[in-house]
Formats: sequence, C-alpha cells, structure tokens
Amino acid sequence: KLSERLKKVSSFLPEGAYFADIGSDHAYLPCYVCLHDRTAKAIAGEVNEGPFNSAKSTVEAYQLSNRVEVRLGNGLEVLDDITDIRQIVIAGMGGSLIKTILEEGKSKLSNVQRIIAQPNVDERNVRRWLLKEGYIVTNEAIIEENGHRYEIIVADKKGTQNLIDPYTEEQLEKELLFGPILLRNKTAIFYEKWQSEYKKLARVISQMKEASNINSDKMERFEKELSWIREELQ
Ligand code: SAM
Repeated sequence: KLSERLKKVSSFLPEGAYFADIGSDHAYLPCYVCLHDRTAKAIAGEVNEGPFNSAKSTVEAYQLSNRVEVRLGNGLEVLDDITDIRQIVIAGMGGSLIKTILEEGKSKLSNVQRIIAQPNVDERNVRRWLLKEGYIVTNEAIIEENGHRYEIIVADKKGTQNLIDPYTEEQLEKELLFGPILLRNKTAIFYEKWQSEYKKLARVISQMKEASNINSDKMERFEKELSWIREELQ
C-alpha cells in the first residue's frame, strides 16, 4: 500500500506522464502510477545498490519492466542528455539535497515541464532554486502522516511571457519560507506546522540572547522570521 504522502505526490502527475523518480528506493511510486495509468512510463533512479535492487524487484513483481526502467546513478545523471522525460519527482529527502541534485543535473532539464519536489526539511532551498531557474510554483500541498508533516511543491517551466514582478523583497522571502500557494490557502495542518515552528524559533532566539557572543545578523534574521510567522498565524 502506497503512503498517503506518495499518493499525493502522484496526484500531481498528468495522465500519460513520462517521468523520472529520482531516489526511488523501492520504486513504489512509479509502479503505483503505472498500475493506475496504462499510458504512463517512468525511469526510477537510485544511487545506492540496495534500493536499486529493491526497485528492480518491485518492478519485476508487478510485471512493469516494459514501462518502468530502473537505473543506477547519482541524481539526474541517470537521464540521457536529451531526454523525453517530461516530469521529475524527487521525494523524501532534505531540501538541500534536492536542490543539489537539480543544480548538478540542470543540463538535463531542457524538455522537463514539471518538477514535483517533496522535501522533508528546508523547503525554502528548493523554492529558491526553482525561482532562480525560471520555474513557477503552480501547486503545493501540506499533509500529515504518521506524526510527520510533509510539504509537496509542484513547479512548471515558465512560458515566454515576462510577468512584471509585483513583489517586494520581503513578500518574496515570505513566499519562499511558507510557500506561495500554502500561504494563500492556509489549512489546519499549515497552522499546526507554523505554531510548532514558532515555538522552536522563539526558543532558539532566547537561547541566543542568553549566550555571550551574540551574532546580531543571525538574530535579526530570526526575529524577522518570527514576526512573519506571528503575522501569518493571526
Ligand atoms: N523517494 C522515496 C520516497 O519518497 O519514499 C524514497 C525516499 S528515501 C528516504 C531516499 C532515497 O534516495 C534513498 O533510497 C537513497 O538511496 C536515494 N538517494 C539519495 N541521494 C540520491 C542521489 N543523489 N541520487 C539518487 N538517489 C539518491
């Protein structure tokens, strides 16, 4: 049975997707998608031999070898230079690792229309990279499963239209932190997450104040962030 987290990730793939699942582990996601959509095809990428073998076993067990190809390699290195892959999923890792995988594999992205990222932490890193590279966040979700909260970020390649940027620097930074879509459509889980982050950050700030060598830049940044969270929780 697929986790609710990966089911939600899969809901952002279009019908007939040809996608890569990078860091696929058991290849549960691509197998689930291909079992439910006979027109879908996927590449499951894994850097580690153990999960690579698990992925191959799952694909064989479901007799999906003709539609799910398992490849061993680091990040987007498993994709051909000019790939027909249209969507990329990177789920279940830290945001900075996701960012590194995308940055190192940038040259493989020319035909990729959609990136679906599910960072476990450091979501802001991923959003910042997407913004810098010309992707627009078109959908987001925040879910809770087994006591963990997960964010899912869906980004599409920007068209040729050159939108005038209506944002102030501060608005932009807030959207990177909270997520532009999550911020406009706050759910109960969003409030739970940011109530908990508020407490954590307030504790860090009071500990910093007690310490003798105060880093005032960092303190200022944290206090700014704390005030943004306070605003959004109102
Ligand atoms: N994507 C699955 C999910 O969301 O449930 C699996 C997540 S699992 C925690 C992370 C997987 O990513 C591991 O199987 C690990 O071997 C793989 N991984 C880590 N770094 C990677 C990289 N640079 N390239 C490909 N796979 C990687």
